Formats: sequence, structure tokens, C-alpha cells
Amino acid sequence: MNYSDSARIKSVLQNSWMIHTDKVEDANIVIFDTCSVRQKSEDKIWWILKEIPKDKKIWITWCMVWHNLKLKKLNNKDEKMKHVDKWNFLQAIKTKDPEVLWLERMDNVKIDETKEYVMINYCFDPLFHKMNMAFPNLELFFRIDDLWFLPKILLSLWYYVKPDIEVTNEYTWIASQWANMNFSETSKTAFIPIQTGCSQFCSYCIVPYARWTEKNRSVDEVLSEIQKLVNQWAEEITLLGQIVNKHTEFTKILKETLKIKGIKWLRYTSPYPTYYNDEILAMHESEEILCPHIHAPVQAGSDTVLKKMFRWYTSDQYKQFIDSIRNLKRPISITSDVIVWFSDETDEDFAKTLELVEYSKFDMIYMWIYSPRPWTYGANKYQDNVPTEIKKQRWWLLNTMLNKISLENNQSELGQIKTVMVMSIDGLKAIWYTENMKHISFKVNENTKVWNFEKVKVTKVIALKLEWEIVS
Ligand code: SF4
Repeated sequence: MNYSDSARIKSVLQNSWMIHTDKVEDANIVIFDTCSVRQKSEDKIWWILKEIPKDKKIWITWCMVWHNLKLKKLNNKDEKMKHVDKWNFLQAIKTKDPEVLWLERMDNVKIDETKEYVMINYCFDPLFHKMNMAFPNLELFFRIDDLWFLPKILLSLWYYVKPDIEVTNEYTWIASQWANMNFSETSKTAFIPIQTGCSQFCSYCIVPYARWTEKNRSVDEVLSEIQKLVNQWAEEITLLGQIVNKHTEFTKILKETLKIKGIKWLRYTSPYPTYYNDEILAMHESEEILCPHIHAPVQAGSDTVLKKMFRWYTSDQYKQFIDSIRNLKRPISITSDVIVWFSDETDEDFAKTLELVEYSKFDMIYMWIYSPRPWTYGANKYQDNVPTEIKKQRWWLLNTMLNKISLENNQSELGQIKTVMVMSIDGLKAIWYTENMKHISFKVNENTKVWNFEKVKVTKVIALKLEWEIVS
């Protein structure tokens, strides 16, 4: 999702006469597209900001900004705002020309409820204020949903910008309208959001508060964006959504996308186990373009923990889902997410997670350390009470099991010839992942180019990684 958002930011700014560079040393403005899923992600930004030279302006957007919005404070300051439901206010489609709201002088601000506002900087006080004290070159905090209004925001900051394209107020339309731009000069991989936000409200997760509730894009809008990107440069398409398969027309989107000529690989992420249907699984079996990989986040193997997490399936239901994937005639690699130590997780609970992982034979697990996130049910009601030593021990046990299973799974790939796409070349080695999402490295030859599809043969397997050689 961050790749997709960054492409949209770039799109808006380039159409406002700004020029993009990947190199910080060449930039006047450095933009951070932040993540809040874990506290660590938010903490990291402070360290990264220290490395930005003082003569560069800093802008920050996305999750870290959104959930720090202090509308409550704003309510206290203006009686007129009291009746305005916080989320409705934030989600209001800005049909009129909104005013840029800074709230720099909180005491003097007069909110006119007949007007619409784009909130920046001190509206996110105290976070903006705190960061601005440490980094005076921090110029702008803005919500990604207000991206469309960025040119207007910049005018308020005394930039001379002039959008070349007619204004719309829908964040997700930006890329589709401007898809004739090549967002990434070399990439052949396009990330297409088919929905934004999430209404699942898992008890540990900040996403519904950082991106608010689900909003599906129409099938036509999604297909038109894909078609334009494929016409221009894209060969690999990844459909995005917090629960991508919860989109009411997900099956139709998959079917119609598969009809678009020129796509070599089609992926989607992240699905939720219980929103699958037989038709989607059947497509994985019969449609070569639909990559043989399913990322199926499980989070825990204990029903008690799953219930506390508000994950609405049991470990048995999840195993049945794994069985239905394994029963397909085409081998599908399966990856997952696991929170290793949720509140009150006992040794018995954790043993059930290990048992489920062994049963599922995951090719990869993204294990993450639970940290209570603001706003969430978990942060309000549960204790982060698993001792650090136990957390470390459980992480080690899970990682050891993952390495063992991954090595066993990878053995079956030895000697196979497959197509891969080259992501980067470092000296004599190239790095990418396969159509079934396995990380690989292989020796390059003089014809190997970044973003080329290459035929390679697996020559060696290790845990979590394959080594290949190019087949001429
Ligand atoms: S499904 Fe749960 S974990 Fe995933 S984004 Fe939504 S709330 Fe977060």
C-alpha cells in the first residue's frame, strides 16, 4: 500500500510542476510515507529524520499522521464542533473548495461548520509540535486522504504550484486518471488498491484507526487503471486491500483482470482466510497468470488467543482452509503472519501456534512482536504481560520451526526450471522472488537486466531462500 501511495504522491507533485528524484542529496523536499502497524515503525522515523540534512524540507504523511489527529482537542476549543461526529467529519467527501486548517493559534481559531477543511500540521499537535521542535525543517504533516488537495496545501505554504489536471476529490482516482504517467521509471510491477481502510477491527490492530473503514473501489475503476498501466509499462499486477478478498466483487475483479492481455503475473494481498470461495481457489489451480502463492495471515494457533484478537475463525477452520489449498492440483506456496506473544498467551497457547505452523507447512512467516497500539481494544483492555525472556524464547522456537519447514519445502524445488523477475543486481548476483514468492539469488550474465523476466534453474536450496542459475 505504501508503494501505491508513494506513486500517487509522486503523481500529484509531478503534475504540480515538481520533479521527482530518488536521491536525498538532490532533493529539496524529502517525503516520508509512514507506517504505524508497530510502535517500532513510528520510533524508527525519529532516527531516520536525524540523517536528513537540515537544508532539506521534510514532509510526513500516512498512518502515523492520521491516527495522531487531535480532533478531541479541536472539539474542546470550539463549541460548534461538539456535535460533529469525529469520524464522519474526517471522512466527509470534500465537495467544495476546502480551506487549509493549521490551528497554529489554537485559542483564536474559529471553525465555521459550513466549511470543509484540509487539516495539516498543528491539527496533529502535539506530535507535529514535538517533531517540529526536534526538526525545525519539518514543514508539513498531512493525511494521505487529503492528497488531492496537496497543491492547495502547498499554496498555503507559499509554494508556487499549478496542478495541470482538473481537480477531483477522490484519493483513489488519482492514479487511474493519471495512469499515462510511468510512476516508477524502471519497474514493471504495479500495485493497485481495490479498497482502502479496514472494518474488521482486530483487537491489536491500528489500521482501522489509521486508515478508517473499508471503502471499495468500483470494478470498472480498478480495471480501467490496470488496463492503462498494462498499456504503458506494467507486467506484474498486485491487487491491494487490507482484506482484499472481502471486496464484494473480488472474484469478478480477478476474473476480469485475468482477461487483460499483457499481464504476466497477477497477485493480491492480503486476504482473510474466511473470505475465500471455491471459485478463487479454482482460479489458482487453472489460471497460470494467477501466481501460485497465497498469503494467509493466521496470527495465532490457539482458539482462546484468536478470540481475544477478534479473529473470527478457529484453528480447525484455518486448517480446513489450508487443506483446501493443498488439495489443488497446482502446488501453491503459503505464507502467513503470526503475532508470537499476545496478551496472556500461555505456553499451551503458544504450543498450539507451533502445532498449527507445522501442520500448515508455511514457506514463510512474518512474525511480529506485539506492541499495544493507540485506540485499539487490545491497548485499552489487555495487558502486554508476557515477560521478555519468554517472548525471546518463543520467537526462537517459532523461527527454528520455520527454518526447518522452509528447508523441507524448498527441497522439492531443487532442479526445477522457473521464470523469475529480476529486482536488483548487486555485483555478480541478482535478487528477486519467484512466482510462488520465494526469495532467490542467482549469478547474472551480461544480458541480465533489472525488471527482466528470466528463466532460471534451482541449483541449491537453503532455508527461506533458493539459489538459481540462468538457463540460456
Ligand atoms: S483484518 Fe485485522 S489485522 Fe488486518 S488490517 Fe484489518 S484490523 Fe488490521
